[in-house]
Amino acid sequence: MKIMHDVIISGAGPSGSQCARVIAEAGYKVALIEKDVNWRKPCGGATHSSVFDLYPQLKKLNYSKIRGVVMYSADYHRLEFKGASSEYSVIMDRLELDNIMRNAAIDAGAELIDNNISHDFIIKNQKKVGVKTKSPNGSKEFYGNLIIIADGMSSKLAVKSGIRPKWKVNNLAIGKCSIMEGTHDLGMENVYVYFKPFQGYAWIFPINKRRYNIGIFTFGKDNSEYNIHKIYYEFVNNPNVKQYLSNSDNRTIWSSSYPFPAEGVLEKSLFDNNLMLIGDAGGFVSPISGEGIQTAVLSGKIAAETAINALQDEDFSRTRLKTYRTNQEIKKIIRNFKQKSSMINFFYENNGENLNKMLELADRDSVFREQVVNMFAFGEMPSKDLIQKLITK
Ligand SMILES: Cc1cc2nc3c(=O)[nH]c(=O)nc-3n(C[C@H](O)[C@H](O)[C@H](O)COP(=O)(O)OP(=O)(O)OC[C@H]3O[C@@H](n4cnc5c(N)ncnc54)[C@H](O)[C@@H]3O)c2cc1C
Repeated sequence: MKIMHDVIISGAGPSGSQCARVIAEAGYKVALIEKDVNWRKPCGGATHSSVFDLYPQLKKLNYSKIRGVVMYSADYHRLEFKGASSEYSVIMDRLELDNIMRNAAIDAGAELIDNNISHDFIIKNQKKVGVKTKSPNGSKEFYGNLIIIADGMSSKLAVKSGIRPKWKVNNLAIGKCSIMEGTHDLGMENVYVYFKPFQGYAWIFPINKRRYNIGIFTFGKDNSEYNIHKIYYEFVNNPNVKQYLSNSDNRTIWSSSYPFPAEGVLEKSLFDNNLMLIGDAGGFVSPISGEGIQTAVLSGKIAAETAINALQDEDFSRTRLKTYRTNQEIKKIIRNFKQKSSMINFFYENNGENLNKMLELADRDSVFREQVVNMFAFGEMPSKDLIQKLITK
């Protein structure tokens, strides 16, 4: 069966749904292909409150407003910081967040094609003209002028496109997390971040008075050195962590593990003739913090604007799509992530000694403290001053 659309988007996570919504609002025919709308993406669910500017309907969810952070060094030295600004982050359940974003795309006119796994391109005259899917009802083919790859870090299409190779384990972070329900003593305005002697960190994020997200990840070479399930169980059973969580009635309502790209945006591999990569598929996850929801949505929006211009001009060439990569906001994300990447070795040398130093300094110096909170709780870029103070300490 031949089904024709203007744009085919593979993956209805935050990046794909936002992209589909913007293109559909401009009046174009969009197919949004999703393997399973009931899959809860393994994620801490922390994102900036600016998500409400684009999705005010998320406000109806039961979420907590985060204005501070409780940080623990690898030896469990505790520091609590409150952000001074009016900014806040929010913690959400990804199943709820993703479905609200998908519904916004559907309301804008995108056609959601659920229960379909994109696995290859349809190629005519050496040109990628569509996407092949497998579904419980058999194989399908979706034709479109543009194909946007938004199906996350394990994207088959990204690899088959030839734009980028399959990621190796050292280029990734591997996380395991759970949503727990029960009595807890977590401050509802704080995230709890536990630094580790290895590359990665652990967290407890309160979702509401009865629920929290708890997890841990490693990245780079430490993916092979540490077993994610083992360090997860050690973390959740640590007495320091247990002090916040009642033993009696806490139960796991969902648990999963998943990787994410850890090396920043694939700046040389974001587009090709009639193709663009957005969100995790293109590496839009912040090194060190692992945050990717906000940048997934932003990359989806900018790819959509590029697609609308290409559709207006009926030009889907690589040259036309280059404006996606040269967009100022995309350039800013790339710069920000590069700077964070360059700090990884510095932070984690000698079993995280510089991270410990950073916390000590933050305890004494209020200006420095504000910057540390902004970096870890609100995803901001570390200032030159912050780096200088760490180096010279
Ligand atoms: C353990 C962990 C914790 C994290 N914590 C945070 C956090 O607290 N805050 C934060 O900002 N970021 C966090 N992230 C990163 C964040 O989850 C991602 O950056 C974000 O989800 C990227 O959105 P996306 O739309 O690009 O991809 P995804 O959210 O991965 O969405 C991809 C979509 O494509 C679908 N799909 C996959 N394959 C196919 C296929 N072949 N065919 C059709 N559909 C397909 C999937 O079902 C999914 O709906 C975390 C990641 C992990 C792994």
